Amino acid sequence: MDSPGFAIAFVINGIQVDPSSIRDEDSLARIEAIVEMLEGAASNLLCPDHSEPPRFLFSGPNFDSLSMEIYGCCQGLVDLTKKRLAD
Ligand SMILES: [Zn+2]
Repeated sequence: MDSPGFAIAFVINGIQVDPSSIRDEDSLARIEAIVEMLEGAASNLLCPDHSEPPRFLFSGPNFDSLSMEIYGCCQGLVDLTKKRLAD
């Protein structure tokens, strides 16, 4: 199984975008950089209490100006994920 263990969603202009449907190279490069960053920082990251992986929502008017939100089973996982990403 090669699931990264966490889910990433992209919402552009209020519409969820399937990264595999993107054909624009600049946008694809942005997505790849984000996924790589998260795989480096947050893969194998599970909530110590609930064994759930964090989920990430990237939203904005376009792929150049995305803001990240972190979701999890509890605040503890969200805090842990933020700490991991900050390290
Ligand atoms: Zn939890």
